Amino acid sequence: MIKFLDLEKFHAPILQELEEAVGRVVASGWYIGGEEVRFFEEDFARYLGIKHCIGCASGTDALELILRAYEIGPGDEVIVPAMTWVSDAEAVSLVGATPVFADILEDEYTLSPQALSKQITSKTKAIIAVHLYGLPCRMDEILALAKQHDLVVIEDCAQAHGAMYKGKKVGGLGAAAAFSFYPTKNLGALGDAGAVTCNDAGIAEKVRLISNHGQRKRDEHLVIGKTSRLDPIQAAVLRVKLNYLDRWNSLRISNAHYLQAALQDSPLTLPSMPNGCEHVFHQFVIQPGDRDTFRRYLMLNGIETAIHYPNALPQLPAFKQGGYAAGDFPMAEKLAREAVSLPILLDDNDLGQLVESIKRAVRKDLT
Ligand SMILES: *Cc1c(COP(=O)(O)O)cnc(C)c1O
Repeated sequence: MIKFLDLEKFHAPILQELEEAVGRVVASGWYIGGEEVRFFEEDFARYLGIKHCIGCASGTDALELILRAYEIGPGDEVIVPAMTWVSDAEAVSLVGATPVFADILEDEYTLSPQALSKQITSKTKAIIAVHLYGLPCRMDEILALAKQHDLVVIEDCAQAHGAMYKGKKVGGLGAAAAFSFYPTKNLGALGDAGAVTCNDAGIAEKVRLISNHGQRKRDEHLVIGKTSRLDPIQAAVLRVKLNYLDRWNSLRISNAHYLQAALQDSPLTLPSMPNGCEHVFHQFVIQPGDRDTFRRYLMLNGIETAIHYPNALPQLPAFKQGGYAAGDFPMAEKLAREAVSLPILLDDNDLGQLVESIKRAVRKDLT
């Protein structure tokens, strides 16, 4: 059986280190904030080459904290890709602003700069650039549009820890970035966790303030904030796992290259790997024509697959007030119908078995 993501297997070799990290927090008596959180924030900022990192409770909160730090709220519009995890649109709605969707690129699956430019109005305040599946967005074009229209660019790096765009790690390319450390991400905690990164000291301070009840000092509440802090146990776990991020990303990348080479003559649509980008393959997404038959065949061969995501966001009941119709976002809707994510964090044995099963499916014309 090849699980879609076998986290226990990848945690097994570092189990002792993880247990030590958790034990250290238990013994320290510091269960909110403290050294572990500060050390992780420093380590992660250094890893990314970015000035500030502020831990928080989740990736969704990271997005919300950034929007609030930029004082985006009622009456404002924020452009969000039509295909992404729900958080991007959700965070915009949570601050009272309106998510305005734009379609994705046909091959790269990230925000289409052309579609984006058509959605800019006098109310637009920000763009959420999601590095979907681990592939950096077309940042040069997005940043140029943002500059022209005076918009804030927020990167969503929840699927792209360590990904590079033109020699720079994502997370410091726009105004601020949101990271999630949900357990299945490329860098995952053992529970919910997230962070905001940015190079602007003022925004960093505002994010930190809002994430901790608006207080700089205890009982001195300067603004309305919330409880969204990075848990010290998760910070300690993340400090351990950060040391393995590059190794695990390399495994994802080399497996992706192997799959690309092995399947290049098949009728499957494979991920594109544009020049100048280092894709970290949070997901390896293909498009077989007949998704259900293909997935069923792999399942019969003991291989789990997944779908990211079965709906374009504008078509979900939660966003129906946008009044979008089927067909408004053709590329996002096509991906919602056809995408299949293959297991990618695999050892060589499982990778070989995956390729053989896919080749058999192709030969049997099950794609
Ligand atoms: C996982 C994810 C998030 C949200 O992260 P949580 O930590 O689960 O809140 C946001 N955006 C994208 C693209 C994600 O994949």
